Amino acid sequence: MDGWRNAGAEETLDPGDWEPVRALSHRIMDDAIDHLRDVRDRPVWREIRRGVRAAFDAPLPRAPLPLADVYREVAETVMAYPMGNVHPRFWSWYMGAGNFTGALADFLAAVQGSNLGGGNHAAASMDRQVVDWCRQMVGFPVGAGGSLVSGGSMANLIALAVARNVKAGIDVREQGVAALPQPLVFYASDQAHSCHRKAVEALGHGNQALRRVATGADLRMDVDALRSAVAEDRAAGRLPAVVIATAGTVNTGAVDDLRAIADVAVAEELWLHIDGCIGALIAIAPANAHRVTGLERADSIALDPHKWLHAPFEAGCVLVRDQAVHRAAFAVTPEYLETTPRGLAAAEWLYDYGLQTTRGFRALKIWMALKQHGVEAFGRLIDQNIAQARYLAELIAVEPALELTAPVEINIVCFRYRADGLARPALKALNIEIMLRLQEQGTAALSDTTVYDEHCLRVAIANHRTRREDLALLVQECVRIGREVSEEPCPVS
Ligand SMILES: *Cc1c(COP(=O)(O)O)cnc(C)c1O
Repeated sequence: MDGWRNAGAEETLDPGDWEPVRALSHRIMDDAIDHLRDVRDRPVWREIRRGVRAAFDAPLPRAPLPLADVYREVAETVMAYPMGNVHPRFWSWYMGAGNFTGALADFLAAVQGSNLGGGNHAAASMDRQVVDWCRQMVGFPVGAGGSLVSGGSMANLIALAVARNVKAGIDVREQGVAALPQPLVFYASDQAHSCHRKAVEALGHGNQALRRVATGADLRMDVDALRSAVAEDRAAGRLPAVVIATAGTVNTGAVDDLRAIADVAVAEELWLHIDGCIGALIAIAPANAHRVTGLERADSIALDPHKWLHAPFEAGCVLVRDQAVHRAAFAVTPEYLETTPRGLAAAEWLYDYGLQTTRGFRALKIWMALKQHGVEAFGRLIDQNIAQARYLAELIAVEPALELTAPVEINIVCFRYRADGLARPALKALNIEIMLRLQEQGTAALSDTTVYDEHCLRVAIANHRTRREDLALLVQECVRIGREVSEEPCPVS
């Protein structure tokens, strides 16, 4: 008896009797708390068992199943095989580690159930408030606006769409890109995130419209190269329109010289967009905030609360200095969504600031965690991750078997196992093997990349659970596995 069958009345998804549901829900909550409490004791990641994998090939269910059975299956097949980013030794790619308050918020948001397309209700007011808190965190002026979106990729796309419309010189919403008198050009460093390419392509300009500006030895955009590229494009009859500066590149964490790029943007009348998915929130971290001065000069900023605020996925934020041009890029009010002087529709529609109509209640998970801990705690955690990256770099620097392969500016460390005498492909294979064994042993999750044309391993510490001892263990295991692989009779080729 799970309380769900409801004899007689019309059908609904609600249970006939809520009491058994309450008991099961309490158990799910207990399991969830244990799951996070014990996260350190589990492997970071493990391969899904074959029998378990088969569960995901099961056909469309026809017959009902008690919720307790459904939950048991989820516990065994899903909860047992996470990606691992909530684990203290997960440092792959770039993502936050989540937090329990945010998970509670996601649950409550679903129960409360509001549609953040807009309307006159509390969740919509909170959505505006959280956007404004993001504005305050990065030091944008009063009057700037923005929107909560799925993540950084969407935040960058929305900002670039606004920028393009402002700089097009024609009514591009009405006439489309085919009517542009000159091709527009976007500039970003050769270290910019791949989402900018997708955005420029989706906006109809083509990949060639995104010029990759060279970076210097510090992997920051070469500002002289930016100036020359702009001059070259003007001379060739193209219209330089938007420069995308990156505050924290995904490869190495390099922060472009925001002030110098802002000066070029002013001089050349370019829209300055800052991709701050990694670094914009450094503005709240007292020991490191100086690294992102200049943020406040942007026309638009993309940031990612699901990275360094550790909001459960998905939560990104786009901020635009001039709220009116943001709205002008998307607002379309059909007759069935007109606002009314009173009642439920007595508020501006939030869906006028982006592409989604129905929007989820993303604000609550950011709001609750910020309220609980206060913004300063998040700033300290960012400083802590940056200090941990320094610590790891020091351990690597004194370990003869390892070497750093890029400057450590914020929380990303690139390094490799060294093996004198090995050719580059064999060295790459050896390092990949170390990375895969670390994953398969469940010890740590890191990823790899190419910097200065050299393959290396990469640790990105955006994790409030990481401790220094975890990083010491990583170094120890890299050395141990490196030796183990080197000594195997049939070395990796
Ligand atoms: C993560 C990241 C993105 C993409 O953000 P998502 O939230 O993954 O969509 C864009 N730019 C940079 C620099 C990033 O680190």
